[in-house]
Amino acid sequence: MTEKPLGLNTICTHVGELEDTQHKGAVSPLYMSTSYAFDNVDVKRYPRYFNTPNQEGLCKKIAALEHAEDALIFGSGMAAVSTALMAFLRAGDHVVLQQTLYGGTYNLVTEEFGKYGIAYSFTTGWTPADFEAQIRDTTKVIYIETPSNPLLTITDLEGVAQVAKKHGLVSMIDNTFASPVNQNPIDFGIDVVIHSATKYMGGHSDICAGAVASSKENMDRIFHLAKNFGGSLSDYTVWLLERSLKTLGLRVRAQNENALAMARYLKAHDDIGAVYYPGLETHPGHELAKRQMKGFGGMMSFELKPYLDARQFQNELQLIKSSMSLAGVESTVLSPKETSHSLMSPEVRAEQGIRDGLIRFSVGIEEPEDLQRDIARAIKRVKLQASIA
Ligand SMILES: *Cc1c(COP(=O)(O)O)cnc(C)c1O
Repeated sequence: MTEKPLGLNTICTHVGELEDTQHKGAVSPLYMSTSYAFDNVDVKRYPRYFNTPNQEGLCKKIAALEHAEDALIFGSGMAAVSTALMAFLRAGDHVVLQQTLYGGTYNLVTEEFGKYGIAYSFTTGWTPADFEAQIRDTTKVIYIETPSNPLLTITDLEGVAQVAKKHGLVSMIDNTFASPVNQNPIDFGIDVVIHSATKYMGGHSDICAGAVASSKENMDRIFHLAKNFGGSLSDYTVWLLERSLKTLGLRVRAQNENALAMARYLKAHDDIGAVYYPGLETHPGHELAKRQMKGFGGMMSFELKPYLDARQFQNELQLIKSSMSLAGVESTVLSPKETSHSLMSPEVRAEQGIRDGLIRFSVGIEEPEDLQRDIARAIKRVKLQASIA
């Protein structure tokens, strides 16, 4: 009989921890050495070989969190994305990518892939059939992101994994928005799971890191490229990330709850238009999200009514800060039109459903009543300035 796997918060707290045999301290010792004497020449420890004691410990925790055989941690989310993609692509190959992607990933593909002779196509929709429609003889990889930025669109994990298997392709997901607390894509047949650990995994807006989790075989292939690319993380940051992950379950579950409360509040607010949150029954991806997610996450977006200026609204918020990043314990907002999607033409933005008054909202762990008061106050101030009663 196989033993029941450990539960989420137990994995967060304990898996991969290093024992302090010298002093019996409660936390993993931090080994900053870049040089290790050989016990046996087959094991050469070196930071860029991703095998220092702290790196190996943290990789165990991340693999356990994502129900994967193995994992690697990188110096940033983009180091993880680029290394994972390039490990499975070479000149002449083609990759199918989801229509809306994190801006950095979009830039990587559109600015760099041409130089290496790698072709790419973006889907025109979100269904598995939309992905299948883009497959060519040379396609090697399908790449998705769900929930996606900024409209929290949900892509069918199982459906896309089946398309990939049918055509012998590697399926990859950027699982950053969901975090391993809310979504484990490997359970649905997705091959490679990528995270910007700068977001929920770090969670305190003080770490830049990335992670990839997959089968042992895939991770060996990714590792081979990773040590040539050299995107390893400093052991000090590894140690901080291990500490952050101990509270991942607590933080993200609190953020799930807060986000649902905020989504319901915003939906009922007279000065707010559409609210995009997969936890709302009215969200087009709600049923799918219920099937493949354990919680609906801390990210949402909402539209201010046209008479409210998005920039003024953000300026009037006191507790909630405007910020490029997301997923910290503190709540933040941004206007995609002015930041993440500013390089897109207004036509392309409109095509993707990104209206000028759209606000992306990363819900933190503050008391929801305080967040609601902050938003109500800001809206009132903007209306006063515009002399709308
Ligand atoms: C932030 C982010 C990334 C990139 O991560 P960095 O750590 O900034 O390199 C990739 N994907 C998503 C969804 C992100 O939010």
